[in-house]
Amino acid sequence: MDENVFEGPDLIVAGAGGGLAGALRAAQAGLSVLVVESNERYRRGNNTSMSTAMIPAMGTRFQRNAGVTDTPDLFRSDVANKTGGDYNEVATTALSAISAELVEWLADSVGMDISLVTDFVYPGHSVPRCHTIPGHSGASMLNTLVNAVSAHEMIDVMTPARLVDVVMTDGRVTGAVIETPDGREEIPTKAVLLATNGYGADAGMVTEHMPEIAAALYHGSEHSRGDALRIGTALGAASDYLDAYQGHAALAMPSASLATWATVMHGGFLVNRAGHRFGDETSGYSEYAAISSSHASEGAWIIIDERIYEACSGFQDFQDVIAGGGVRWADSPQQLAVDAGIDPDGFTRTVAEVATFAAAAGSDQFGRTSWETPLTGRLAAIFVKPALFHTQGGLRIDEHAQVVHTDGTPLTGLYASGGAAAGISGHGASGYLAGNGLLPALGLAFIAADHVAGRV
Ligand SMILES: Cc1cc2nc3c(=O)[nH]c(=O)nc-3n(C[C@H](O)[C@H](O)[C@H](O)COP(=O)(O)OP(=O)(O)OC[C@H]3O[C@@H](n4cnc5c(N)ncnc54)[C@H](O)[C@@H]3O)c2cc1C
Repeated sequence: MDENVFEGPDLIVAGAGGGLAGALRAAQAGLSVLVVESNERYRRGNNTSMSTAMIPAMGTRFQRNAGVTDTPDLFRSDVANKTGGDYNEVATTALSAISAELVEWLADSVGMDISLVTDFVYPGHSVPRCHTIPGHSGASMLNTLVNAVSAHEMIDVMTPARLVDVVMTDGRVTGAVIETPDGREEIPTKAVLLATNGYGADAGMVTEHMPEIAAALYHGSEHSRGDALRIGTALGAASDYLDAYQGHAALAMPSASLATWATVMHGGFLVNRAGHRFGDETSGYSEYAAISSSHASEGAWIIIDERIYEACSGFQDFQDVIAGGGVRWADSPQQLAVDAGIDPDGFTRTVAEVATFAAAAGSDQFGRTSWETPLTGRLAAIFVKPALFHTQGGLRIDEHAQVVHTDGTPLTGLYASGGAAAGISGHGASGYLAGNGLLPALGLAFIAADHVAGRV
Protein backbone atom coordinates (compact mmCIF):
# COMPACT_ATOMS: atom_id res chain seq x y z
CA MET A 1 0.00 0.00 0.00
CA ASP A 2 1.24 3.51 -0.83
CA GLU A 3 1.96 5.21 2.54
CA ASN A 4 1.08 8.62 1.09
CA VAL A 5 -2.52 7.74 0.29
CA PHE A 6 -3.24 5.74 3.45
CA GLU A 7 -6.20 7.06 5.38
CA GLY A 8 -7.88 5.86 8.56
CA PRO A 9 -6.79 5.46 12.15
CA ASP A 10 -3.41 3.96 13.05
CA LEU A 11 -5.19 1.47 15.30
CA ILE A 12 -8.74 0.17 15.58
CA VAL A 13 -9.62 -1.25 18.99
CA ALA A 14 -12.69 -3.51 18.91
CA GLY A 15 -14.24 -3.59 22.38
CA ALA A 16 -14.37 -0.89 25.06
CA GLY A 17 -13.47 -2.99 28.10
CA GLY A 18 -9.85 -3.72 28.90
CA GLY A 19 -9.10 -2.72 25.31
CA LEU A 20 -9.42 0.91 26.37
CA ALA A 21 -6.06 0.60 28.11
CA GLY A 22 -4.58 -0.16 24.67
CA ALA A 23 -6.44 2.73 23.05
CA LEU A 24 -5.12 5.18 25.63
CA ARG A 25 -1.60 3.83 25.65
CA ALA A 26 -1.42 4.04 21.83
CA ALA A 27 -2.84 7.57 21.79
CA GLN A 28 -0.28 8.65 24.39
CA ALA A 29 2.37 7.43 21.94
CA GLY A 30 0.89 9.74 19.28
CA LEU A 31 -1.25 7.25 17.34
CA SER A 32 -4.75 7.97 16.09
CA VAL A 33 -7.18 5.40 17.48
CA LEU A 34 -10.75 4.40 16.69
CA VAL A 35 -12.59 2.34 19.31
CA VAL A 36 -15.60 0.40 18.01
CA GLU A 37 -17.99 -0.97 20.60
CA SER A 38 -21.04 -3.11 19.84
CA ASN A 39 -22.92 -2.41 23.10
CA GLU A 40 -24.07 1.17 23.70
CA ARG A 41 -24.49 0.31 27.40
CA TYR A 42 -21.00 -1.12 27.73
CA ARG A 43 -20.15 1.02 30.77
CA ARG A 44 -22.47 -1.17 32.83
CA GLY A 45 -22.56 -4.21 30.61
CA ASN A 46 -19.13 -5.55 29.84
CA ASN A 47 -17.04 -7.85 31.97
CA THR A 48 -14.54 -5.19 32.94
CA SER A 49 -17.41 -3.18 34.42
CA MET A 50 -18.79 -6.27 36.21
CA SER A 51 -15.43 -7.28 37.70
CA THR A 52 -14.16 -6.80 41.23
CA ALA A 53 -11.22 -4.80 39.89
CA MET A 54 -8.44 -7.10 41.13
CA ILE A 55 -5.27 -6.77 39.06
CA PRO A 56 -2.25 -8.90 39.98
CA ALA A 57 1.13 -7.22 39.53
CA MET A 58 4.58 -8.12 40.76
CA GLY A 59 7.26 -5.79 42.08
CA THR A 60 5.12 -2.64 42.26
CA ARG A 61 5.84 0.33 44.49
CA PHE A 62 2.57 -0.51 46.28
CA GLN A 63 4.04 -3.88 47.25
CA ARG A 64 7.39 -2.36 48.25
CA ASN A 65 5.59 0.19 50.45
CA ALA A 66 3.75 -2.69 52.13
CA GLY A 67 7.00 -4.63 52.61
CA VAL A 68 5.99 -7.33 50.08
CA THR A 69 8.76 -8.91 48.00
CA ASP A 70 7.48 -10.26 44.67
CA THR A 71 8.89 -11.04 41.25
CA PRO A 72 7.71 -12.10 37.79
CA ASP A 73 9.39 -15.48 38.42
CA LEU A 74 7.33 -16.04 41.55
CA PHE A 75 4.12 -15.28 39.64
CA ARG A 76 5.13 -17.66 36.85
CA SER A 77 5.76 -20.38 39.39
CA ASP A 78 2.34 -19.71 40.99
CA VAL A 79 0.71 -19.98 37.55
CA ALA A 80 2.64 -23.22 36.87
CA ASN A 81 1.52 -24.67 40.23
CA LYS A 82 -2.13 -23.67 39.81
CA THR A 83 -2.34 -25.03 36.26
CA GLY A 84 -0.40 -28.23 36.91
CA GLY A 85 2.35 -26.99 34.59
CA ASP A 86 0.28 -26.78 31.38
CA TYR A 87 -0.13 -23.05 30.76
CA ASN A 88 0.46 -20.29 28.23
CA GLU A 89 4.11 -19.50 28.88
CA VAL A 90 4.38 -16.78 26.22
CA ALA A 91 1.53 -14.69 27.60
CA THR A 92 2.43 -15.36 31.24
CA THR A 93 6.01 -14.24 30.69
CA ALA A 94 5.02 -11.16 28.71
CA LEU A 95 2.38 -10.12 31.26
CA SER A 96 4.52 -10.71 34.32
CA ALA A 97 7.26 -8.57 32.75
CA ILE A 98 5.01 -5.51 32.36
CA SER A 99 2.56 -5.95 35.25
CA ALA A 100 4.28 -3.50 37.61
CA GLU A 101 4.63 -0.87 34.87
CA LEU A 102 0.97 -1.42 33.92
CA VAL A 103 -0.40 -0.91 37.43
CA GLU A 104 1.79 2.13 38.08
CA TRP A 105 0.68 3.56 34.70
CA LEU A 106 -2.98 3.01 35.68
CA ALA A 107 -2.27 4.97 38.88
CA ASP A 108 -0.08 7.75 37.50
CA SER A 109 -1.25 8.21 33.94
CA VAL A 110 -4.87 7.06 33.96
CA GLY A 111 -5.70 8.38 37.42
CA MET A 112 -6.84 5.22 39.25
CA ASP A 113 -6.64 5.29 43.04
CA ILE A 114 -4.69 2.03 43.25
CA SER A 115 -3.95 0.15 46.46
CA LEU A 116 -2.67 -3.33 47.33
CA VAL A 117 -5.02 -5.84 48.96
CA THR A 118 -3.13 -6.87 52.11
CA ASP A 119 -5.77 -8.25 54.48
CA PHE A 120 -5.88 -11.67 52.79
CA VAL A 121 -4.28 -13.55 49.90
CA TYR A 122 -6.40 -15.15 47.17
CA PRO A 123 -5.94 -18.93 46.60
CA GLY A 124 -2.77 -19.76 44.70
CA HIS A 125 -1.00 -16.39 45.02
CA SER A 126 2.15 -16.76 47.16
CA VAL A 127 2.13 -13.14 48.29
CA PRO A 128 -0.27 -10.17 48.30
CA ARG A 129 -0.20 -8.96 44.68
CA CYS A 130 -3.81 -8.11 43.83
CA HIS A 131 -4.11 -4.36 43.27
CA THR A 132 -7.48 -2.69 43.33
CA ILE A 133 -9.38 0.58 43.66
CA PRO A 134 -11.79 1.82 46.37
CA GLY A 135 -14.90 -0.35 46.62
CA HIS A 136 -13.27 -3.02 44.42
CA SER A 137 -15.57 -1.70 41.72
CA GLY A 138 -15.04 -2.71 38.10
CA ALA A 139 -17.58 -0.10 37.01
CA SER A 140 -15.51 2.68 38.63
CA MET A 141 -12.36 1.27 37.10
CA LEU A 142 -13.91 1.24 33.63
CA ASN A 143 -15.32 4.74 34.15
CA THR A 144 -11.87 6.09 34.94
CA LEU A 145 -10.58 4.55 31.71
CA VAL A 146 -13.55 5.84 29.69
CA ASN A 147 -13.04 9.36 31.04
CA ALA A 148 -9.35 9.32 30.14
CA VAL A 149 -10.17 8.00 26.64
CA SER A 150 -12.91 10.62 26.12
CA ALA A 151 -10.51 13.40 27.11
CA HIS A 152 -7.87 12.31 24.59
CA GLU A 153 -8.09 14.09 21.25
CA MET A 154 -6.43 11.21 19.36
CA ILE A 155 -9.20 8.73 20.22
CA ASP A 156 -12.68 8.43 18.71
CA VAL A 157 -15.27 6.03 20.08
CA MET A 158 -18.00 4.64 17.81
CA THR A 159 -20.99 2.82 19.33
CA PRO A 160 -23.04 0.82 18.54
CA ALA A 161 -20.49 -0.51 16.07
CA ARG A 162 -19.60 -4.20 15.80
CA LEU A 163 -16.42 -5.49 14.24
CA VAL A 164 -17.49 -8.25 11.86
CA ASP A 165 -14.31 -8.86 9.90
CA VAL A 166 -10.69 -7.89 9.46
CA VAL A 167 -9.23 -7.40 5.98
CA MET A 168 -5.72 -8.69 5.33
CA THR A 169 -3.68 -8.09 2.22
CA ASP A 170 -0.39 -9.96 1.65
CA GLY A 171 -0.39 -11.14 5.27
CA ARG A 172 -0.93 -7.67 6.77
CA VAL A 173 -3.97 -5.96 8.21
CA THR A 174 -5.32 -3.33 5.81
CA GLY A 175 -8.83 -2.74 7.12
CA ALA A 176 -11.67 -3.55 9.47
CA VAL A 177 -15.29 -4.20 8.54
CA ILE A 178 -17.66 -2.51 10.97
CA GLU A 179 -21.42 -2.99 11.23
CA THR A 180 -23.54 -0.11 12.52
CA PRO A 181 -27.29 0.57 12.37
CA ASP A 182 -26.53 2.35 9.05
CA GLY A 183 -24.97 -0.75 7.49
CA ARG A 184 -21.48 -2.13 6.92
CA GLU A 185 -18.37 -0.18 6.07
CA GLU A 186 -14.70 -1.01 5.66
CA ILE A 187 -12.33 1.32 7.46
CA PRO A 188 -8.69 1.26 6.38
CA THR A 189 -6.11 0.70 9.12
CA LYS A 190 -2.82 -1.09 9.64
CA ALA A 191 -3.62 -2.52 13.05
CA VAL A 192 -6.62 -4.03 14.79
CA LEU A 193 -6.79 -5.02 18.45
CA LEU A 194 -9.42 -7.70 19.09
CA ALA A 195 -10.60 -6.85 22.62
CA THR A 196 -14.09 -8.32 22.26
CA ASN A 197 -13.80 -10.87 25.11
CA GLY A 198 -14.59 -14.60 24.80
CA TYR A 199 -17.63 -16.77 24.09
CA GLY A 200 -19.37 -17.13 27.45
CA ALA A 201 -22.63 -15.79 26.01
CA ASP A 202 -22.66 -18.40 23.25
CA ALA A 203 -24.38 -21.38 24.91
CA GLY A 204 -23.43 -23.70 22.05
CA MET A 205 -19.72 -22.95 22.37
CA VAL A 206 -19.88 -23.30 26.16
CA THR A 207 -21.53 -26.71 25.85
CA GLU A 208 -18.99 -27.78 23.25
CA HIS A 209 -15.86 -26.67 25.10
CA MET A 210 -16.74 -26.73 28.82
CA PRO A 211 -19.72 -29.05 29.38
CA GLU A 212 -19.09 -29.28 33.15
CA ILE A 213 -20.28 -25.69 33.64
CA ALA A 214 -22.88 -25.50 30.86
CA ALA A 215 -25.80 -26.01 33.28
CA ALA A 216 -24.69 -23.16 35.58
CA LEU A 217 -25.86 -19.56 35.32
CA TYR A 218 -23.94 -17.30 32.96
CA HIS A 219 -22.99 -14.06 34.69
CA GLY A 220 -21.00 -12.09 32.18
CA SER A 221 -21.38 -9.75 29.20
CA GLU A 222 -24.09 -10.68 26.70
CA HIS A 223 -21.77 -9.39 23.97
CA SER A 224 -19.14 -12.08 24.64
CA ARG A 225 -20.24 -13.94 21.52
CA GLY A 226 -16.93 -15.34 20.32
CA ASP A 227 -16.45 -12.74 17.55
CA ALA A 228 -12.66 -12.54 17.94
CA LEU A 229 -12.28 -16.31 17.77
CA ARG A 230 -14.47 -16.53 14.65
CA ILE A 231 -12.75 -13.64 12.86
CA GLY A 232 -9.23 -14.73 13.83
CA THR A 233 -9.57 -18.42 12.99
CA ALA A 234 -11.20 -17.58 9.64
CA LEU A 235 -7.99 -15.68 8.85
CA GLY A 236 -5.88 -18.72 9.73
CA ALA A 237 -5.02 -17.92 13.35
CA ALA A 238 -4.31 -20.67 15.88
CA SER A 239 -6.34 -20.98 19.09
CA ASP A 240 -5.55 -22.52 22.48
CA TYR A 241 -7.09 -23.53 25.82
CA LEU A 242 -10.66 -23.35 24.52
CA ASP A 243 -11.86 -25.39 27.52
CA ALA A 244 -10.56 -22.80 30.02
CA TYR A 245 -12.95 -20.66 32.00
CA GLN A 246 -13.43 -18.68 35.17
CA GLY A 247 -16.31 -19.94 37.24
CA HIS A 248 -17.43 -18.56 40.56
CA ALA A 249 -19.14 -20.51 43.32
CA ALA A 250 -20.50 -17.47 45.17
CA LEU A 251 -23.07 -15.62 43.09
CA ALA A 252 -25.45 -14.49 45.84
CA MET A 253 -29.19 -14.60 45.43
CA PRO A 254 -31.54 -12.80 45.09
CA SER A 255 -29.28 -9.85 44.16
CA ALA A 256 -27.17 -11.82 41.61
CA SER A 257 -24.10 -10.04 42.97
CA LEU A 258 -20.87 -11.49 44.19
CA ALA A 259 -20.48 -12.65 47.79
CA THR A 260 -16.74 -12.23 47.60
CA TRP A 261 -14.56 -15.32 48.13
CA ALA A 262 -12.93 -13.27 50.87
CA THR A 263 -15.79 -14.73 52.95
CA VAL A 264 -14.14 -18.12 52.57
CA MET A 265 -10.54 -16.95 52.83
CA HIS A 266 -11.38 -15.32 56.17
CA GLY A 267 -12.71 -18.67 57.49
CA GLY A 268 -16.22 -19.13 56.02
CA PHE A 269 -17.41 -22.42 54.51
CA LEU A 270 -20.13 -23.74 52.16
CA VAL A 271 -22.89 -26.23 52.90
CA ASN A 272 -25.58 -27.80 50.74
CA ARG A 273 -29.25 -28.28 51.65
CA ALA A 274 -28.34 -31.37 53.71
CA GLY A 275 -26.08 -29.14 55.81
CA HIS A 276 -22.93 -30.91 54.55
CA ARG A 277 -19.71 -29.39 53.25
CA PHE A 278 -18.55 -30.91 49.96
CA GLY A 279 -14.92 -29.87 49.35
CA ASP A 280 -11.91 -27.72 50.22
CA GLU A 281 -13.33 -24.26 49.56
CA THR A 282 -9.87 -22.66 49.66
CA SER A 283 -8.78 -24.55 46.53
CA GLY A 284 -10.25 -21.65 44.52
CA TYR A 285 -13.59 -20.06 43.70
CA SER A 286 -13.29 -20.85 40.00
CA GLU A 287 -13.01 -24.65 40.21
CA TYR A 288 -15.45 -24.66 43.13
CA ALA A 289 -18.22 -23.57 40.75
CA ALA A 290 -18.27 -26.98 39.02
CA ILE A 291 -17.89 -28.78 42.39
CA SER A 292 -20.85 -26.79 43.72
CA SER A 293 -22.78 -27.47 40.53
CA SER A 294 -22.50 -31.23 41.11
CA HIS A 295 -22.90 -31.36 44.95
CA ALA A 296 -25.38 -28.54 45.48
CA SER A 297 -27.19 -28.23 42.17
CA GLU A 298 -30.00 -26.12 43.65
CA GLY A 299 -27.55 -23.76 45.39
CA ALA A 300 -25.44 -23.65 48.55
CA TRP A 301 -24.97 -21.42 51.59
CA ILE A 302 -21.80 -19.61 52.67
CA ILE A 303 -21.60 -19.54 56.45
CA ILE A 304 -19.87 -16.57 58.11
CA ASP A 305 -19.73 -14.77 61.45
CA GLU A 306 -19.68 -11.06 62.32
CA ARG A 307 -15.88 -10.82 62.07
CA ILE A 308 -16.00 -12.05 58.45
CA TYR A 309 -18.99 -9.83 57.70
CA GLU A 310 -16.98 -6.78 58.83
CA ALA A 311 -13.86 -7.91 56.95
CA CYS A 312 -15.83 -8.13 53.68
CA SER A 313 -17.86 -4.97 54.05
CA GLY A 314 -15.38 -2.91 51.97
CA PHE A 315 -16.45 -4.78 48.82
CA GLN A 316 -19.14 -2.94 46.87
CA ASP A 317 -20.45 -6.30 45.63
CA PHE A 318 -20.82 -7.51 49.20
CA GLN A 319 -22.72 -4.32 50.03
CA ASP A 320 -25.05 -5.16 47.12
CA VAL A 321 -25.59 -8.63 48.60
CA ILE A 322 -26.48 -7.05 51.95
CA ALA A 323 -28.78 -4.47 50.34
CA GLY A 324 -30.51 -7.28 48.43
CA GLY A 325 -31.35 -9.05 51.72
CA GLY A 326 -28.89 -11.86 50.95
CA VAL A 327 -27.30 -12.15 54.43
CA ARG A 328 -29.54 -14.05 56.88
CA TRP A 329 -28.58 -13.98 60.60
CA ALA A 330 -29.80 -16.16 63.50
CA ASP A 331 -28.78 -16.56 67.11
CA SER A 332 -28.14 -20.31 66.91
CA PRO A 333 -27.00 -22.70 64.16
CA GLN A 334 -30.24 -24.66 64.64
CA GLN A 335 -32.37 -21.55 64.05
CA LEU A 336 -30.22 -20.43 61.10
CA ALA A 337 -30.72 -23.82 59.44
CA VAL A 338 -34.48 -23.72 59.97
CA ASP A 339 -34.75 -20.16 58.64
CA ALA A 340 -32.58 -20.84 55.61
CA GLY A 341 -34.14 -24.19 54.70
CA ILE A 342 -31.04 -26.29 55.49
CA ASP A 343 -31.33 -29.63 57.30
CA PRO A 344 -30.79 -28.60 60.99
CA ASP A 345 -29.19 -31.87 62.16
CA GLY A 346 -26.71 -32.03 59.32
CA PHE A 347 -25.89 -28.34 59.71
CA THR A 348 -25.31 -28.35 63.48
CA ARG A 349 -23.00 -31.36 63.10
CA THR A 350 -21.05 -29.54 60.36
CA VAL A 351 -20.71 -26.36 62.46
CA ALA A 352 -19.29 -28.43 65.34
CA GLU A 353 -16.88 -30.27 63.01
CA VAL A 354 -15.65 -27.04 61.45
CA ALA A 355 -15.04 -25.55 64.91
CA THR A 356 -12.84 -28.54 65.74
CA PHE A 357 -10.85 -28.30 62.48
CA ALA A 358 -10.43 -24.54 62.76
CA ALA A 359 -9.18 -24.75 66.33
CA ALA A 360 -6.62 -27.46 65.54
CA ALA A 361 -3.77 -27.00 63.10
CA GLY A 362 -4.02 -29.65 60.38
CA SER A 363 -6.20 -30.70 57.56
CA ASP A 364 -9.89 -31.62 57.38
CA GLN A 365 -11.36 -34.55 55.42
CA PHE A 366 -11.15 -32.51 52.16
CA GLY A 367 -7.60 -31.28 52.70
CA ARG A 368 -8.53 -27.76 53.83
CA THR A 369 -5.88 -26.36 56.21
CA SER A 370 -6.62 -22.65 56.25
CA TRP A 371 -9.37 -21.25 58.51
CA GLU A 372 -7.86 -17.98 59.75
CA THR A 373 -9.68 -18.40 63.08
CA PRO A 374 -12.75 -20.32 64.36
CA LEU A 375 -16.15 -18.69 63.82
CA THR A 376 -17.66 -17.17 66.95
CA GLY A 377 -21.01 -15.74 68.08
CA ARG A 378 -24.04 -15.66 65.85
CA LEU A 379 -23.74 -16.95 62.32
CA ALA A 380 -25.14 -15.84 58.98
CA ALA A 381 -25.97 -17.80 55.80
CA ILE A 382 -25.67 -16.36 52.29
CA PHE A 383 -27.47 -18.33 49.57
CA VAL A 384 -25.22 -18.67 46.51
CA LYS A 385 -25.31 -20.32 43.09
CA PRO A 386 -22.40 -21.37 40.90
CA ALA A 387 -21.87 -19.36 37.72
CA LEU A 388 -19.74 -19.07 34.62
CA PHE A 389 -18.11 -15.60 34.51
CA HIS A 390 -15.98 -15.73 31.40
CA THR A 391 -14.08 -18.03 29.07
CA GLN A 392 -10.28 -18.05 29.08
CA GLY A 393 -9.44 -19.72 25.78
CA GLY A 394 -8.85 -17.81 22.58
CA LEU A 395 -6.47 -16.80 19.84
CA ARG A 396 -2.82 -17.74 20.16
CA ILE A 397 -0.56 -14.70 20.44
CA ASP A 398 3.17 -13.95 20.52
CA GLU A 399 5.03 -11.88 23.13
CA HIS A 400 3.74 -8.66 21.51
CA ALA A 401 0.10 -9.80 21.78
CA GLN A 402 0.11 -10.27 18.01
CA VAL A 403 -2.10 -13.10 16.75
CA VAL A 404 -0.17 -16.00 15.19
CA HIS A 405 -0.74 -18.89 12.81
CA THR A 406 -0.24 -22.47 13.98
CA ASP A 407 3.38 -22.27 12.73
CA GLY A 408 4.02 -19.24 14.98
CA THR A 409 4.23 -16.63 12.23
CA PRO A 410 2.25 -13.47 13.00
CA LEU A 411 -0.82 -12.13 11.25
CA THR A 412 0.91 -8.79 10.96
CA GLY A 413 -1.08 -6.00 12.57
CA LEU A 414 -3.71 -8.24 14.21
CA TYR A 415 -3.61 -8.26 18.03
CA ALA A 416 -5.74 -9.87 20.75
CA SER A 417 -6.22 -9.09 24.43
CA GLY A 418 -8.36 -10.19 27.37
CA GLY A 419 -10.93 -12.88 26.67
CA ALA A 420 -10.18 -12.74 22.94
CA ALA A 421 -6.68 -14.18 23.50
CA ALA A 422 -5.68 -17.56 24.90
CA GLY A 423 -5.39 -16.87 28.63
CA ILE A 424 -2.95 -17.77 31.37
CA SER A 425 -5.11 -20.21 33.34
CA GLY A 426 -4.28 -23.51 31.64
CA HIS A 427 -7.18 -25.89 31.00
CA GLY A 428 -10.58 -26.10 32.69
CA ALA A 429 -11.41 -23.98 35.74
CA SER A 430 -8.84 -24.98 38.30
CA GLY A 431 -5.94 -23.00 36.80
CA TYR A 432 -7.65 -19.68 37.38
CA LEU A 433 -5.88 -17.36 39.82
CA ALA A 434 -7.71 -14.22 40.99
CA GLY A 435 -6.85 -11.48 38.52
CA ASN A 436 -6.17 -13.77 35.55
CA GLY A 437 -9.00 -11.99 33.74
CA LEU A 438 -8.06 -8.36 34.09
CA LEU A 439 -4.29 -8.78 33.80
CA PRO A 440 -4.56 -10.12 30.21
CA ALA A 441 -7.40 -7.68 29.44
CA LEU A 442 -5.45 -4.57 30.40
CA GLY A 443 -1.94 -5.97 30.04
CA LEU A 444 -2.15 -7.48 26.54
CA ALA A 445 -3.87 -4.32 25.30
CA PHE A 446 -1.00 -2.29 26.80
CA ILE A 447 1.61 -4.56 25.19
CA ALA A 448 -0.17 -4.49 21.83
CA ALA A 449 -0.35 -0.68 21.86
CA ASP A 450 3.38 -0.39 22.52
CA HIS A 451 4.10 -2.78 19.66
CA VAL A 452 1.85 -0.92 17.23
CA ALA A 453 3.46 2.36 18.30
CA GLY A 454 6.89 0.90 17.60
CA ARG A 455 5.79 -0.29 14.16
CA VAL A 456 3.79 2.66 12.88
C1 LIG B 1 -18.67 -10.68 38.07
C2 LIG B 1 -17.26 -10.76 37.53
C3 LIG B 1 -16.19 -10.45 38.37
C4 LIG B 1 -14.89 -10.51 37.88
N1 LIG B 1 -13.85 -10.12 38.69
C5 LIG B 1 -12.59 -10.12 38.20
C6 LIG B 1 -11.48 -9.64 38.97
O1 LIG B 1 -11.62 -9.14 40.09
N2 LIG B 1 -10.24 -9.74 38.43
C7 LIG B 1 -10.04 -10.25 37.19
O2 LIG B 1 -8.91 -10.33 36.76
N3 LIG B 1 -11.05 -10.63 36.41
C8 LIG B 1 -12.31 -10.59 36.88
N4 LIG B 1 -13.34 -10.98 36.08
C9 LIG B 1 -13.04 -11.30 34.68
C10 LIG B 1 -12.77 -10.00 33.93
O3 LIG B 1 -13.86 -9.14 34.14
C11 LIG B 1 -12.61 -10.27 32.45
O4 LIG B 1 -11.68 -11.29 32.24
C12 LIG B 1 -12.10 -9.02 31.72
O5 LIG B 1 -12.81 -7.89 32.15
C13 LIG B 1 -12.24 -9.20 30.23
O6 LIG B 1 -11.94 -8.00 29.61
P1 LIG B 1 -12.18 -7.87 28.05
O7 LIG B 1 -11.69 -6.53 27.67
O8 LIG B 1 -11.62 -9.05 27.36
O9 LIG B 1 -13.76 -7.97 27.90
P2 LIG B 1 -14.94 -6.93 28.24
O10 LIG B 1 -14.61 -6.08 29.40
O11 LIG B 1 -16.19 -7.72 28.30
O12 LIG B 1 -14.93 -5.99 26.98
C14 LIG B 1 -15.24 -6.50 25.70
C15 LIG B 1 -16.08 -5.46 24.98
O13 LIG B 1 -16.17 -5.81 23.61
C16 LIG B 1 -17.49 -5.53 23.14
N5 LIG B 1 -17.69 -6.35 21.95
C17 LIG B 1 -17.95 -7.67 21.86
N6 LIG B 1 -17.95 -8.07 20.57
C18 LIG B 1 -17.68 -6.96 19.81
C19 LIG B 1 -17.49 -6.73 18.43
N7 LIG B 1 -17.57 -7.72 17.53
N8 LIG B 1 -17.21 -5.46 18.03
C20 LIG B 1 -17.12 -4.43 18.91
N9 LIG B 1 -17.27 -4.61 20.24
C21 LIG B 1 -17.53 -5.86 20.69
C22 LIG B 1 -18.36 -5.87 24.33
O14 LIG B 1 -19.62 -5.24 24.27
C23 LIG B 1 -17.50 -5.36 25.49
O15 LIG B 1 -17.79 -4.02 25.84
C24 LIG B 1 -14.66 -10.91 36.54
C25 LIG B 1 -15.74 -11.21 35.69
C26 LIG B 1 -17.03 -11.12 36.17
C27 LIG B 1 -18.17 -11.44 35.24
